Amino acid sequence: MADRDGLIWYDGKMVPWREATTHVLTHTLHYGMGVFEGVRAYKTDKGTAIFRLKEHTDRLFRSAHILGMKMPFDKATVVEAQKAAVRENNLESAYMRPMAFYGAEAMGISAKTLSTHLIVAAWKWGAYMGEEALERGIRVKTSSFSRHHVNITMCKAKANGNYMNSILAHQEAAADGYDEALLLDVDGFVAEGSGENIFIVRNGKIYTPDLTSALEGITRDTIVQLAAELGYTVIEKRITRDEVYSADEAFFTGTAAEVTPIRELDNRAIGLGKRGPVTEQLQKMYFDVVTGKSAKHMDWLTIV
Ligand code: PMP
Repeated sequence: MADRDGLIWYDGKMVPWREATTHVLTHTLHYGMGVFEGVRAYKTDKGTAIFRLKEHTDRLFRSAHILGMKMPFDKATVVEAQKAAVRENNLESAYMRPMAFYGAEAMGISAKTLSTHLIVAAWKWGAYMGEEALERGIRVKTSSFSRHHVNITMCKAKANGNYMNSILAHQEAAADGYDEALLLDVDGFVAEGSGENIFIVRNGKIYTPDLTSALEGITRDTIVQLAAELGYTVIEKRITRDEVYSADEAFFTGTAAEVTPIRELDNRAIGLGKRGPVTEQLQKMYFDVVTGKSAKHMDWLTIV
């Protein structure tokens, strides 16, 4: 991260950005056993609001529970920490990164005597793949890396170590000139992007892979609900890569990626090779909801 002014919530205190450091023998740095969240706050008429703060906080605690990590603070404190990280950095809109990690008391994989630490950082982060991606859509390549097997790592945990797989896949796709990777599960079915869930649209119906090895995305859940409100049928099922090739539309969802249209997979245009009408409608509704322009779902917004 670029050097900057600002504050990071670190184990209960606001610490200047440059002083929010940790020891090189930090256990999580060595073995990847940690959990984190990616959360966004948007500017609304009523002030800056965090989108689905409760659900992100719940997932952070669920991830820690799955890994057997003891959280050092309760949920109410972590909720307040996230609000404070946005507020005290004077951010109108923000990306937030809560993370729980093990301390540096001991090496080795028993991880038994270790303390757990918690940080919440917040900074301004625009469109994850650029504004143009949101409008034109992106080019995606099926990865040579499979998504994790469900018994090799814990796919429902947003765990630090899981992201080695995402980085390998993303870097491979980027090196080949694509914007993002699509990962298949170990059986060859579509799982998700390196940091996004995927949807396809065919004949007016919306499909998304069931969650076997994909993360339980909060944006995914949001889109499933919004699509249903717009009268679409949303079907969760196993999806093959050729079903994506043959779809009328496809898009990724994620806190960072928001709703990003996919215009191409493996050099095959999807539909007309541009953002499709259903994607556009859902994308618009998503941005209306997160920015408080839609009266419905104000309960998803927490003013900081
Ligand atoms: N899958 C993976 C692997 C991710 O990292 C993310 C981003 N957290 C998602 C899906 C989307 O999840 P969400 O909508 O909750 O951000």
